[in-house]
Amino acid sequence: MEHDQSVAETPVLANLTMKIVHDNCPFDDRLRTAWGFAATVAGPEKTILFDTGSDGTLLRENMASMGIDPGGIDSVVLSHVHADHTGGLVGLLKAHPSVEVFLLGSFPARFKETVRGYGTGVVEVESPTMICPCVYSTGPMGRRIHEQTLVVRTARGLVVLTGCAHPGADKVVEQVRAVHEGDILLVMGGFHLGWATDSRIERVIRTFKRLGVRYVAPTHCTGEKAQNLFLKHFKDRCLDVGVGKTIALADLK
Ligand SMILES: [Zn+2]
Ligand SMILES: [Zn+2]
Repeated sequence: MEHDQSVAETPVLANLTMKIVHDNCPFDDRLRTAWGFAATVAGPEKTILFDTGSDGTLLRENMASMGIDPGGIDSVVLSHVHADHTGGLVGLLKAHPSVEVFLLGSFPARFKETVRGYGTGVVEVESPTMICPCVYSTGPMGRRIHEQTLVVRTARGLVVLTGCAHPGADKVVEQVRAVHEGDILLVMGGFHLGWATDSRIERVIRTFKRLGVRYVAPTHCTGEKAQNLFLKHFKDRCLDVGVGKTIALADLK
């Protein structure tokens, strides 16, 4: 896609609701936790499941507890191949195979065959891609571990969803900022700082602030130390999230 122009010309969303349906971080104790991350994105033309967590049974149970019908999912976007983001996919496909799965071209052939084996459409993302109007993938980033990040253009700014942010949460936000016009309203997901030094974490936070990130929702593999540092710097604009959390655009003042 010729991102600069086409992105600027596209409309923005007035409504967006995201629900974390699989996370190792707790939030609503009626839902079960397990290592991994998955969140639904509703409001765009397509209802999207971003990642699937590690456990398909738990994913479906949690979706049911949150009143989400798997049959309502149009597209699944897989951030990267790690099992804590893709392990729940087969569980979903067994219930609802008629989705399209956006994965990276670098995923193993066997993985793609398994998905196609359910009669499910596979879209291999090789570069920045539009999932549907207002919703984009950054395309694969990172050298060792390839990962794509989801970007939603809303009337209030850009909403960025990361899986593990293996390429670096700061690098991801820099890339989003370089490609998309508008302010970054929220960055949510795993920031992969569980084993990072304080100075590395501070550097990520400084980059977020410099690039004008308004809200953060660090979860999954962000790590407790980094979560606390984000809270210290972003205060009430660091959202308390985990499995069972719902974030609507209207919540972000
Ligand atoms: Zn990972
Ligand atoms: Zn992960």
